[in-house]
Amino acid sequence: MSGFNSIIGQEQPKRFLTILLQKGMIPNALLFTGSEGVGKKMAALSFAMAANCAGKHKSPQKSSGLNFEDEIFPTEPCGTCKNCRQFDSGSYPDFIRIDPEGQVTKIAQIRELRQLISMKPFGAGLRVIVLSKAHTLNQEASNALLKVLEEPPNRTILILITPRISDLLPTIVSRCQHIRFHPIPVKLLAAVLTQEHTMDHKEAEFIAAMANGSFSRALALKNTDWIFRRNWIIKEIENMDTSSVAVILAMAEKMGKNKDKESTQDLLEMIKTWYRDLMIAKYCPDKIINKDLMVTVRNVSQRYHQNTLLNRISAVQRAQKEIDANVNTRLVLENLFLTLAETPLDID
Ligand SMILES: [Zn+2]
Repeated sequence: MSGFNSIIGQEQPKRFLTILLQKGMIPNALLFTGSEGVGKKMAALSFAMAANCAGKHKSPQKSSGLNFEDEIFPTEPCGTCKNCRQFDSGSYPDFIRIDPEGQVTKIAQIRELRQLISMKPFGAGLRVIVLSKAHTLNQEASNALLKVLEEPPNRTILILITPRISDLLPTIVSRCQHIRFHPIPVKLLAAVLTQEHTMDHKEAEFIAAMANGSFSRALALKNTDWIFRRNWIIKEIENMDTSSVAVILAMAEKMGKNKDKESTQDLLEMIKTWYRDLMIAKYCPDKIINKDLMVTVRNVSQRYHQNTLLNRISAVQRAQKEIDANVNTRLVLENLFLTLAETPLDID
């Protein structure tokens, strides 16, 4: 199912996009920012579908749109007309998604795009071009894209998707209307997992908290043996102060071999959540995320001073940022684990 209704949360971006459709004010370029898995791609697809839906197209009215002065679009695609069905099967000819080739969106891809948009769209509607990871544009490709934005083609909109606005050249950003997508609130995400993905409520709450507001991350976690992994990592870090340096380095090496960055981030998130639970155990036990480990959390929390826990949480956050920034995973983990092992335990 596609359409704005299938996006969890994101009320402001949805409202903004539907207003553009209602008023027929289609800008030349939109920029969607926000972390992975919060609905940006689905919003781009829903927008393109609604703009091209033939099912419940309202009669033309006067509006002040840019390229569509006499058009007014439905705000939700019908899902059943020929165009919507083509969208659903990925075959609508005027919806073009550009993904990076490997790690980079290359100049050749933008040249191809320029050639394509020099021609008229296939259909009578709006051509939508989505750059799914605009932060992977290299310098040359960025400059070429800037030329596209400077001479906007008719009946075409570009949608650039990227985590942060700072990932792009300011000259590109200034030519786009910016829409910010926020992480999905934990409660909402947990409710969706419980209702639509038949998860146990406690499990859904844990996964939602762990996923940092990302729906795709939550679904990926749901399909892993996360309880086993969480229990393993907690045991390892709680024994770290008595482990030898060699053991700690070996563990960093083992985890560092993990090619999948997401999976390492999941483990770091589990460590962070564990320390967070230890920190709040005394004051707000009802807010503990590892609810199934409530008794252990309470017992272990007695061993720590609040400052130690705060320092450890900061150390994990630092490691998460470094991994995001592509610093060598093994080095980051070695550094983190040695810090966690070094920090003295303050017994109250
Ligand atoms: Zn339709």
